[in-house]
Amino acid sequence: MAEANRISTMLSMVLGAERFPVKVDELAVEYSRQCFAESPIDKVQGEDLDGFDGLLKANKARSKWLILYNSATPSEGRKRFTIAHEFGHYILHRHQQDLFECGDDDIETGDNNERDIEAEADLFSSTLLMPLDDFRRQVNGHPVSFDLLGHCADRYGVSLTAAALRWTEIADKRAILVASRDDHMLWAKSNQAAFKSGAYFATRKRTIEMPRAALAYSDNWSAANETQTTRAQAWFPREASSMPLTEMTKVAAQYDYTLTLLLMPDAEWQRPRHDDEESEEDTFDHFIRNGQPPVRK
Ligand SMILES: [Zn+2]
Repeated sequence: MAEANRISTMLSMVLGAERFPVKVDELAVEYSRQCFAESPIDKVQGEDLDGFDGLLKANKARSKWLILYNSATPSEGRKRFTIAHEFGHYILHRHQQDLFECGDDDIETGDNNERDIEAEADLFSSTLLMPLDDFRRQVNGHPVSFDLLGHCADRYGVSLTAAALRWTEIADKRAILVASRDDHMLWAKSNQAAFKSGAYFATRKRTIEMPRAALAYSDNWSAANETQTTRAQAWFPREASSMPLTEMTKVAAQYDYTLTLLLMPDAEWQRPRHDDEESEEDTFDHFIRNGQPPVRK
């Protein structure tokens, strides 16, 4: 993050505040040429990468590096994020490896807990493309909506998913972004506050069906109705019955999945009542079997 912020500060000084979206391909080449002249990034180009979204590799002598992105990638935003992710590997990790091959699972939605260098490259990328000071200026004082996040996605030239994830990081409440297709979760990411309160879905460990009451559930789907406030228990059985949850959905056409943003006030832990203790136990067992005991506040 510090490295990306340093580059951002420099760009702001040279280009001013209205400098978005970041021209990351030119930046990677120019910056590396000036700062690391003995082994710069020589080229950034699209190619038909079988099974990868992005790749960073050195030549034999390690005197130059190449960034490739999958030319079949459907969106400009995704390409930009991928190039910035590979640029991140170059800045942060090039002394560890000669070759970085990054797949769909690593970029944008990389799992923070499993592969550290992927999470670092993602953080570098989102920090470089969507600096927090500017991001805050775009969203502060506005209620969050997919329209607002769409404005951010346009400004920074990133996907709606990347902008929404960035927003959850600075949200002042618990926020969870869920991607789903055919009534099942593809992935879900909780911000720190949500994760610490146990409001998360372990989508990498098991298949999770969307709650029947979810807006994005096929039976309920109507394009006109994109927001609802419901009981948090519909999504998280351990939440207090009085806990409200706001749910927003949007079809992310370019990825062929639906995004759901869940918002909740801070957690208040309640002991399970006797009459529903059994279902509480089940949820608990589920989490613990997966090696992820929930954190109680
Ligand atoms: Zn990577």
